[in-house]
Amino acid sequence: MHCCVRVLCCGNTKGAAVQNNPDITLITAGAPITASKHGGRAKCLQRLVRLDLPVPRTVALSFGTVNRITSGDLPDMAKILEQFAPDSLLCVRPSSEDPDWGGPGAVLNIGMNEARCAELGETLGPEAAVQLYQRFVQAYAVHVAELDPDLFDDITDTGQPGLAATLRVYEEETDEPFPQEPGAQLAGVLRSMARAWGSTSARLLRQAKGAPVEAGLGLVVQQMIPLVGQAECGAGVMQLVDVVTGQLQITGRYRSRNRERAALGATTTLYLQRDKRGPALEDVAPEAFAALTAYAALMREKLREEMQVEFVIENGAVHILDGVRAPRSSRAAVRIAVRLAQDGIITPQEAVMRVDPHSLNALLHPQVAPGAKRDILVTGIAASPGAATGRIVFTSAAAQASAARREPCVLVRRETSPEDIRGMHASVAVLTERGGMSSHAAVIGRGFGLPCIVGASSLRFQTSKGPITTADGRVLKAGDMITIDGTTGQVLAGEPEMLGAALDDAFQTLMQWVDAARDIEVRANADTPEDAQTARNFKAQGIGLCRTEHMFSQPGRLTVMREMIFADTGAERAAVLERLLPMQRDDFAQLFRIMQGLPVCVRLFDPPLHEFLPTSRTGQRELAKALGLPVSDVSRRVETMFEYNPMLGLRGVRLGVILPEIYDMQVRAIFEATLLAIDAGAPLVPDVMIPLVSAAPEVELVSARIKAVAAAVRAEKGRDFNYRLGVMVETPRACLQAGEIAPYVEFLSFGTNDLTQMAYGLSRDDAGRFMSNYVQKGIYPEDPFHVLDVDGVGELLSLGADRGRAASPEITLSICGEHGGNPESIAFCRDAGFDYVSCSPYRVPVARLAAAQYAI
Ligand code: PEP
Ligand code: MG
Repeated sequence: MHCCVRVLCCGNTKGAAVQNNPDITLITAGAPITASKHGGRAKCLQRLVRLDLPVPRTVALSFGTVNRITSGDLPDMAKILEQFAPDSLLCVRPSSEDPDWGGPGAVLNIGMNEARCAELGETLGPEAAVQLYQRFVQAYAVHVAELDPDLFDDITDTGQPGLAATLRVYEEETDEPFPQEPGAQLAGVLRSMARAWGSTSARLLRQAKGAPVEAGLGLVVQQMIPLVGQAECGAGVMQLVDVVTGQLQITGRYRSRNRERAALGATTTLYLQRDKRGPALEDVAPEAFAALTAYAALMREKLREEMQVEFVIENGAVHILDGVRAPRSSRAAVRIAVRLAQDGIITPQEAVMRVDPHSLNALLHPQVAPGAKRDILVTGIAASPGAATGRIVFTSAAAQASAARREPCVLVRRETSPEDIRGMHASVAVLTERGGMSSHAAVIGRGFGLPCIVGASSLRFQTSKGPITTADGRVLKAGDMITIDGTTGQVLAGEPEMLGAALDDAFQTLMQWVDAARDIEVRANADTPEDAQTARNFKAQGIGLCRTEHMFSQPGRLTVMREMIFADTGAERAAVLERLLPMQRDDFAQLFRIMQGLPVCVRLFDPPLHEFLPTSRTGQRELAKALGLPVSDVSRRVETMFEYNPMLGLRGVRLGVILPEIYDMQVRAIFEATLLAIDAGAPLVPDVMIPLVSAAPEVELVSARIKAVAAAVRAEKGRDFNYRLGVMVETPRACLQAGEIAPYVEFLSFGTNDLTQMAYGLSRDDAGRFMSNYVQKGIYPEDPFHVLDVDGVGELLSLGADRGRAASPEITLSICGEHGGNPESIAFCRDAGFDYVSCSPYRVPVARLAAAQYAI
């Protein structure tokens, strides 16, 4: 009746003959197959053969052979064909060294022709045989003859008329009859796959995934199993886990040929495991299901990986066609790696190595569910990961009003400033038209753990308070529902399905292994008690940067702060600062309490003062009223404080030199809070950090003043305490002068945000507008505000570290710019012998994992 093609025995003599040919190798247990020569798929198939799994007969073509095919030197087709039974159909699949590099799509049913169609009609039924032939002609036409797939769109006939029409299009377009010879068909397929691998787009795609320029392609030619017989026949894929959650659950799909043939309209796609939603393979072919599950478990154990098994069932018997690493979401990747280690299949270190640090972000925040429909409104720079949905607000006041109504909102601004912090805090996500990775919105967004997209430069604000227009002309008004996907940088319309954060047991277990392996400390940049608590939850080993200026934007303080800015004399300033002192002391006391004796590095005031003044007329009027001054006085003062280049103006240590009362108040607050921490039984030695230094005398001067305040507090309170003084190295000159600066301090912390800005002469707030263009053109390999520019800024870091260490061998070195949370940059810091990295609290787990991977 049917021509049941048996799987030929692997060790037959024909196989041995081919093994003598170095380029075309029958995959047997003993064949010399390597991933570096034949590709990952060929190697995996050999492993399956070694496990005695029922794998159809397969021949591997090496990279060298495919290279030769590209240059027109085709191997002898007869040599390949003689490995298979004469009437078997074949498929060809790509086998790149790393399966992630992809490759051309598989071509199935090679060998289909008039004669085979007629023969198969007897076993499969004429309808099915014709359909198979028609599908093959079309695939061949598109992949091999490179015909436009649209040419076949109008062929709606099925059966013989459809086949005839398809063959006619082929013949008219190619001026040749459709090849009937299996050898000619196979040659065409091999040539087309080799050509596809060499195409520019394929090369760019795989290089983006890390493939080297010279990456080779292997091919595997496999015998296809004819799905004929009375018992169950069909094809499918199986995994032992849910690929989204990583939980143990048999998933996949199975298409039953028997059902397809038997009853038109009946369900032909079955669940694998018994399922109340519909029929399952386990019900219709329990033995095949049991065998398949056992094979999948064996593959998991022996290949030491969660696999996706591609299989067919032929008359009740299971055949394994292929096994690939099961696809997985970020959260599934963690759970899978941890379970493999817990089952003793891999070591905990291997589990740590198998999780991509970048992908951890997706676990720490809610995300758009994989597979959810995405209506993309605009794409910007993915500045802070995670996703959130809310209604658009264009002002901070509207954000706060929305939060008061408990309605989630997304703050959409041209850019943000310290005045927006409360609005940001009240929002579930932030979107700005301007800015780059270290702009205000990006830094604060990451600090708050808010999904944030910046530099969405194709947005057009009709007025600064909206509405906005997207590049394709859609208008977004206040109140419209949008979703910010800060992981991809996409702004989506509406409310796509979301997946919650996953700090589950698997994550916690992985992080325990991470910390056991790590040899560089990870601290957090934390400004508020909430930040500090998040930092502790993510097991940061201290606070490496507390930016104190954010404390002055809080309600009730901004006006006092402005009053201080308006003070005319040092004495007046000191008097207003007296009112800020208890607030600052309370800020630090809270941080110290939360950190429970862990190190806390407080950076003294850094930004230009005029950032705290209102720019709008209304704001100035309100301020005048609050201060009891004429509006003209306020406007004049705002004007006199104008700077052409505020980032290079009166800010950082320069404020400490010119208006020293501010730092006096801050260090007093730190020291008094230190005494409170000692009283509370969680003593600590605070780190006091001076920003934006460029000359050693600045440090000498400020350090003397800090010493005097410490002495005064000690004398007033009759108590002792210690502190460590440090400098933030964030100007190129501070790197060059690190040897002169080091003797005054106990630590140097590299502020790579400003250092990158100054090294490139590139505004961190404006670079977002053209950064993607620069990266696309290959001028910068990456956004240097995101990934440390090792060649330039890195050189400054090394130089500063070497000079600092030479002058003061015990000096503590660290990095606290945004790069501290970037895996590639952490590698640099570790190699340079830094003691710790400090990053936004939500990036702490990413940094811990990256640091562990470098140590393993
Ligand atoms: C820096 O410049 O790297 C830094 C950490 O400080 P800020 O981002 O506050 O300027
Ligand atoms: Mg800075």
